[in-house]
Order: sequence, then structure tokens, then C-alpha cells
Amino acid sequence: MSTNLHDAADQFAAVWSSQDTAYEAAPALQCVEIDVLVDLLRAAGATSTTLTNWLDAHTVSDPDCRGHSTPASTEPSPTT
Ligand SMILES: [Zn+2]
Repeated sequence: MSTNLHDAADQFAAVWSSQDTAYEAAPALQCVEIDVLVDLLRAAGATSTTLTNWLDAHTVSDPDCRGHSTPASTEPSPTT
């Protein structure tokens, strides 16, 4: 088991980066839950592909979802 937050974050990102996990778990999560999970994965060092997998798996399964910002975007979306 991990002994500190850094090791735990590395392990968290590695385990939760599985595409299968994303497509099995994401449909059960609400928008706010996906947002904080993706933020946590990003902070833990997960790749943008992993973040996209989670967002895609959630968005396609939730008819009420209005979409989420792209994981690579650190800037607010421009308002046009
Ligand atoms: Zn959503």
C-alpha cells in the first residue's frame, strides 16, 4: 500500500486510467462527480487520453449531460 499522498496519487492515476474501468464506472456517475474525478485524475498525473475516456464514457451515457470542458483545456472557453 502507498505510504504517502504522492505515491497514492500515482497509484490512483495508474489504476483508474483503465479504459475498461472508465466505460464501466462513468455511466453511473453524475456530472459533478465526473468533474471532480477528472480533476483528481488530472492532478494525479493521468494522461489527457484517460481524461477524455472518462468524459466520453460519461457524456454518451447521460442524456441530461450538457458536455464538459476538454481535459487539455486550462483556459476558460471563449465566449463568442
Ligand atoms: Zn456530464
